[in-house]
Amino acid sequence: MPHLSKRSISSFLRSECLRRLKLDLTPDTNAYQAERTSLNMPPRAVARPGLRALTDAGTEWEIAKVNDLVSTFGIKTTLGTHAALPTGGVKFNTAPLSQVIQHAAPGTFLVQTEYSVGATFENALGIAGYRTTFKLDYADLRPDLIQVLAIGAAKEEVLPDGTVVAVQPNDTRIPLRIIDIKLTAEPSVPYLAEVTYYAMTLAGWLADKGHKGFLVVPEAAVWPGSHDASELVKLDAAKRKVGQAPTHQELLGALGDDLEIVPFGVFAPRLRRFFQSELQTVLSSTWTNLEWHVDNRCIGCEYLGYPWPGSTTSDPRHCWPTATTQDHLSRVAFVSRGARGALADNNITSVAALAGTASTSPAYDTHHVLRATRSVVAGRAQSLGTQQAFVPPQTGTSAVMPKWTDLRIYVTADFDIGSGISVAFGAKGQFWVRPDRVQAGQQQSQMFPATVFPIDQRSLQVEQRELLRLLDAVYRMMQQATTVAQNPTVQVS
Ligand code: SF4
Repeated sequence: MPHLSKRSISSFLRSECLRRLKLDLTPDTNAYQAERTSLNMPPRAVARPGLRALTDAGTEWEIAKVNDLVSTFGIKTTLGTHAALPTGGVKFNTAPLSQVIQHAAPGTFLVQTEYSVGATFENALGIAGYRTTFKLDYADLRPDLIQVLAIGAAKEEVLPDGTVVAVQPNDTRIPLRIIDIKLTAEPSVPYLAEVTYYAMTLAGWLADKGHKGFLVVPEAAVWPGSHDASELVKLDAAKRKVGQAPTHQELLGALGDDLEIVPFGVFAPRLRRFFQSELQTVLSSTWTNLEWHVDNRCIGCEYLGYPWPGSTTSDPRHCWPTATTQDHLSRVAFVSRGARGALADNNITSVAALAGTASTSPAYDTHHVLRATRSVVAGRAQSLGTQQAFVPPQTGTSAVMPKWTDLRIYVTADFDIGSGISVAFGAKGQFWVRPDRVQAGQQQSQMFPATVFPIDQRSLQVEQRELLRLLDAVYRMMQQATTVAQNPTVQVS
């Protein structure tokens, strides 16, 4: 019985992978294990380094932002079920929206309240039949915050199908606004789609439950951030420094500066397409029949099966090993999904077949990426087969790549581009010079083994400390090279 969660939707919008959506619709939990086994689905592999740290950091961030609200607006304006934390502050647990909404008054925030996806939303989108035809059910939803606005503040309201209509000036209903907290410097498409989904389903839930005194506004928002304090906290601190307390209105203004409002008119149609087309395709197919392609969008997918250092979960049905077994064209760097389709139309369906296709082949003219890379794409496929790197003829080389360097230093930075959180730095080096360049009594070659500098706490000071350690390691390799040879050349990559 497929089960649709908010996370499955955002994972799909991030990867645009139908196969991943299908696998996510049958969760890898005890309750669904028998079903997964009967469908021969592979297990999730969750060993990507740093993923756990990022998840934990996201949870801490949510708690921190809610406490920003509590410390500025006051605990009486934050409604829900909370408990004191031993470290100070409070943590809100899940509370039924049906109970908390009874106390919702303008100026308050409903925190971590949960509601179900119901018939009004499904009927509005014309997808009510999924429950009977495909036995689909929906995970309950729990936005971090529902802001209760002043009566008369809403100019427009969201309908359950995602359309937006004007609100009459004399409307006496209480407007509700979705706010979701995300540890991210810039909200991405999946995050903005999530708050859109919350708004549409909340509008449906209000109708399902007969809460006629409320409406949902389209200005749903993500409350993003990375290391810096929120505008809300900065305002509060600045006011208190001069012995004043900010007014409720000033606090609302500062909160507004922190929020990233979703362009609702863009995301509601995207969600409609998801529910009315892509979800139906996936529900009516088996996972092995659905399109897949290993590329950069697979990063973070639990079905990739990449042999990360330290990973133990390996399954031949995962996409990475499957691509190897099938000699899948997605193994060739920069061959996109569209380019692979164009090659398949020309009966080129494997890396080996591509390796044997001359750059003059008309098959390359059928896709713009292939046309632009026709002189290198077959060479990349050949290198995969032979495991030997070479420069294909007539491709030229890069002027920034030196012909030779005595010391080669490789530096890595493992970080999350969305949140700006760095997980670790790494460095290793390789030194080799001709014997006639070696100083007396010195070795002509030396390896500098890989060293990892993990950032074990989410703080700029710790990040700075590890960055300086990395730079020190690079400096020491260069010093060593200078001791061994005169004027050694170096490249850091
Ligand atoms: S690894 Fe990539 S291709 Fe495979 S299911 Fe995940 S997103 Fe899709």
